Amino acid sequence: MNDQDDFSIKFWGVRGSIACSGPKTVRYGGNTSCLEVRCGDRIIILDAGSGIRYLGNELITKGPLDVDIFLTHTHFDHICGMPFFTPFFVPQSKFRISAGHLLPEHNVEFVLSEMMMAPLFPVPMAIFNADIAFQDFMSGDTLDLGDGITLRTAPLNHPNRATGYRIEYQGRSICYITDTEHTLDAPDENVAGLIRGADIVIYDGTYTDEEFPNHITWGHSTWQEGLRMCEANDVKKYVLFHHDPERDDDQLDEIGRQLEELRPGTVVAREGMVLNP
Ligand SMILES: [Zn+2]
Ligand SMILES: [Zn+2]
Repeated sequence: MNDQDDFSIKFWGVRGSIACSGPKTVRYGGNTSCLEVRCGDRIIILDAGSGIRYLGNELITKGPLDVDIFLTHTHFDHICGMPFFTPFFVPQSKFRISAGHLLPEHNVEFVLSEMMMAPLFPVPMAIFNADIAFQDFMSGDTLDLGDGITLRTAPLNHPNRATGYRIEYQGRSICYITDTEHTLDAPDENVAGLIRGADIVIYDGTYTDEEFPNHITWGHSTWQEGLRMCEANDVKKYVLFHHDPERDDDQLDEIGRQLEELRPGTVVAREGMVLNP
């Protein structure tokens, strides 16, 4: 049992685009996006990349669950762990899976069921025994999750769209801004509005500023842009996230060194890391 005022975030997957394994990525981790947020006794999972499998293996030892899962979007690296999330097989558990980028053309239940459909996948979503509800909202909506938890959202600049999140609890805040591309002429006002004054901002730093011109329209940002945005918007702690699968541990160490010099206290996300806002 957590204390009512416990507010924490644990990183189960920090890698972008595709999971990667091997000795060069073992220290920061190779699993794709998945975060576990605790607000008192409430559990909120952000994204269901390959990291969610490990989170599931831990949660399944805790008995029946009541959990909210919010997806930034449904690109494969953010949902590929879902079929392997063992708590979905526990009949007494309840889940609410939500996304804000699909309306009006699609809905999250349909898109996830398409992923788990032959011949792409051997078993359909109906194989899950837990009580799973699906909910679509519009990026930009503010959601009241009860128990004093407010979820603010904003649209991100990404192919097929994505949603940025700000979780507010007990007067503190965690923002999750991944899979977003900035422009070179002006800061993204949607992102700025969401992260202003936040305690923790987790940001898509897939590229460096030097690499960025070769990846325009790919839908990702740079570690330097994350730094500029956090500086300009009074963010307390900046967490670099969605590491390029080509970025090895030594390169991430070097980026971390530069960030520590430029903005002490900044961290490069790694699997297993826990932060308290
Ligand atoms: Zn991604
Ligand atoms: Zn994406």
